Amino acid sequence: MEPFHYQDHQLYCESVPVARLAETYGTPLYIYSRAALLEQLQAIQHAFAALKPLVCFSVKANSNLSLLQLLAEHGSAFDVVSSGELHRVQTAGGDPGKTVFAGVGKTDAEIKAAIEAGVLMFNVESEAELEAINQVALSMGRVAPIALRVNPDVDPKTHRYISTGKKQSKFGMDIERAERVARHVQALPGLEMIGLHMHIGSQITTVEPYAGAVAKGVDLISRFRAQGHPIAWFNMGGGFGIAYRGPEAKAISDFAKVIVPQVESTGCRLVLEPGRVIAGNSGLLVSRVIFTKTSGEKTFLIQDAAMNDLIRPALYESFHKVWPVSVPAGLPAPPADFEAEIPGTAPCDVVGPVCESGDFLAKDRPLPPLHRGDLLAIFSAGAYGMVMASNYNTRPRAAEILVEGDQARVVRRRETLDDLLGPEQEFLKPHAG
Ligand SMILES: *Cc1c(COP(=O)(O)O)cnc(C)c1O
Repeated sequence: MEPFHYQDHQLYCESVPVARLAETYGTPLYIYSRAALLEQLQAIQHAFAALKPLVCFSVKANSNLSLLQLLAEHGSAFDVVSSGELHRVQTAGGDPGKTVFAGVGKTDAEIKAAIEAGVLMFNVESEAELEAINQVALSMGRVAPIALRVNPDVDPKTHRYISTGKKQSKFGMDIERAERVARHVQALPGLEMIGLHMHIGSQITTVEPYAGAVAKGVDLISRFRAQGHPIAWFNMGGGFGIAYRGPEAKAISDFAKVIVPQVESTGCRLVLEPGRVIAGNSGLLVSRVIFTKTSGEKTFLIQDAAMNDLIRPALYESFHKVWPVSVPAGLPAPPADFEAEIPGTAPCDVVGPVCESGDFLAKDRPLPPLHRGDLLAIFSAGAYGMVMASNYNTRPRAAEILVEGDQARVVRRRETLDDLLGPEQEFLKPHAG
């Protein structure tokens, strides 16, 4: 059974009606399916089993503590980009020894915290960072394990904001310079280079970019080893794409087919850093229509989820399926093809209450007639959704719910206005009068 599915015109998460969760916990509301999260994690673990992979869930995609705990309990390792994320992993019971630390701007304090925690390795993005880690490690009397992050200069054919493996990207270092940088590592006694890291971008839906990148990586590993570096880990990063519209993404097993044989030839263990492919379609956002409004030709559905809850449409022009939680009789479950004419629908802009024209979740989207109080599901919101939520317009952030079978539990309560005002309130001057 699909974790999110329609039955008798009603949307369910596993065995729980989404409308009931909206009634109980209010909207906007993030809802995750435990079965979906684990199914995706296990699909990756199985597809790459030959390489004894360390599947490091990318915490930046969804950092809810209970989700991290669930994934850790099922063998997930973690990829973090700040000491805040590392602290979350530790709080959720994740193993720092199975955590990789990436990011272009690690501070000395973060490096120190990560060495103290005993992270598996740092993914190093620049020569300046090598010096910094070396210094901090030496000051602590330690040797820090590292992997060099290299740009294989392949085009991942994804949105320019989430493409990272090309030469002009701020991430990693050029492949031509990597050998010289690796030689320099030997002069830094606080470092031991045990891995190669590549992450070529996000929402990658074809296998060719991986095939090209992994081939370059295999070659580079032999050159690193020739210099004497004990390279034991090949980190291919994350980036596996998911279906936002329809069947646009490749199966995980298709990515494995091009990656496994080549990495196997190096004898390295594989690290993967999947985020979106685990969490993206394991969660959705539910909102409630506040008003409908017609202006010229346009129909606007003004509902209570906004860009502060889900910024991806405004930030990356991303597409999220939007469909009513209760489907009027005669209309299908979310259509497979959103480009085609759908009888009984009219194009709508789905917008939030925030005072920005960029505050939309969908534009010109076919939807059946909806009314004040109706519920909408915004699909594929489990990754890069809640983690990017803000309090813009002093809007408390949504609650998050985790569903397991016919049970649902809160994994983050809805924020209150006290939560928002707290850090400022003590600095108010006494009220006049
Ligand atoms: C963002 C990121 C990931 C996760 O990317 P997904 O597309 O969500 O799989 C993994 N590794 C690094 C270094 C990243 O920056």
